[in-house]
Amino acid sequence: MPPVVRTVLVLACACALLATSVHTQAPASRPVWLEPYREVAARLVQAATGDQFAWRRLAELTDTFGHRLGGSENLDRAVVWAVEAMRRDGLENVRAEEVMVPRWVRGRESAEITVPPKHSIAMLGLGGSIATPPGGLEAEVVVVNAFEELRSRAADIRGRIVLFNAPFTTYSDTVAYRTGGARAASQLGAVAALIRGVGPTGLRTPHTGSVQYGQGISPIPAASISAEDADRIARLTSRGGRVRVRLTMEARADPDVLSANVVGELRGRERPEEIVLLGGHFDSWDVGTGASDDAVGCIITWEAARLMARLGIRPRRTVRIVLFTNEENGLRGATAYAAKHAAHAGNHVFALEADSGVFEPASLGFSGSAAARNIVRDIGTLLAPLGLSEIVAGGGGADIGPIAQAGNAPMMAYLGNPGRYFAIHHTPADTIERIAPEEVSKAAAAIAVMAYVIAEMPERLPR
Ligand SMILES: [Zn+2]
Repeated sequence: MPPVVRTVLVLACACALLATSVHTQAPASRPVWLEPYREVAARLVQAATGDQFAWRRLAELTDTFGHRLGGSENLDRAVVWAVEAMRRDGLENVRAEEVMVPRWVRGRESAEITVPPKHSIAMLGLGGSIATPPGGLEAEVVVVNAFEELRSRAADIRGRIVLFNAPFTTYSDTVAYRTGGARAASQLGAVAALIRGVGPTGLRTPHTGSVQYGQGISPIPAASISAEDADRIARLTSRGGRVRVRLTMEARADPDVLSANVVGELRGRERPEEIVLLGGHFDSWDVGTGASDDAVGCIITWEAARLMARLGIRPRRTVRIVLFTNEENGLRGATAYAAKHAAHAGNHVFALEADSGVFEPASLGFSGSAAARNIVRDIGTLLAPLGLSEIVAGGGGADIGPIAQAGNAPMMAYLGNPGRYFAIHHTPADTIERIAPEEVSKAAAAIAVMAYVIAEMPERLPR
């Protein structure tokens, strides 16, 4: 038996999940118990892949509202739109559940090499960063590849800008520099931290994302710079040169504001109190349009319920869609949902999050008991036409984590190909142009079938 992975996800995005993918044993190709579900499953796949409704809805969302940082007007307007659209789809109990969220505003920002000859750096301030003094700050850069190297050069750091130039390995490993680099540099007296973009080398794209200063640390401005600019600075210093950078950031944190999780349901016909939860996060970073992170996760889970409603399929249990707010810079939506529904946590029989894009080859990750895994693996055989029959280890997500942990619910993740996903993750390149309609349709089909069978089978999925 493969190990059961039950990871508490606190990092922004479900990306930590992608580190492990242990393949399970192949199931029987045609489990007998699934016979009653085959016809409906085939209709769902047919409906999902027969048109491009979900991709068009994704385009409408990202074109109309753009990026949707927690606390922004864009997100507020998108929430209103989603509530209205869910009602038009025929979903039930559609509502916006209010949540207070942080509001961070990027402001103008820039970075340039001032010595040797001026060079403008492709940069993005990290979410939650403080501003530089008005007019910016300028200092010599110390380049380190790892935290150990920073410590070994502790005497060189005071008054300098530290550039963490760690090469990208996996997201879960490399993101430690984005979240914790500024903290480590500040402790040694640095005046700012620059982080090589956390992702495979792209087309000179910096990757934003949260910085975490921690208790008792003097915060310093923190920004991501492109891999190409990081490498250039590293080469210049490795030749013995001194590189000075001017960093200017106007970032600020405003008081918390009201936001909302969007909730819609297909009420169960026999056990409406039992919930199959599907969702993603509706907020994004304030660059690109957050198409892959995570508009598409919201759209494909929502589409699963829309297709059931459209085809007149009403499973035994309730299928609930939640578009969570503020995953990226606070996780307040997930926390608020778990608190509001704490009394019913045990009624969540299954929770699926899509927050890794839909890039192929995709897979479904699962975390739960061996008994549940066997059932889910059987259901996976219905997804063979979609190329998604294999269920890998590692289900869950940052948004469903709190409620699923409270209710001990089995968890699944829809996992897009990590190489393609992280190339555009938290960058201006995260737009719908990267996403093929067929990949959206297949993802929606797979989630619809999985949710339908789990919501319909006589016994609840074992914990
Ligand atoms: Zn995400």
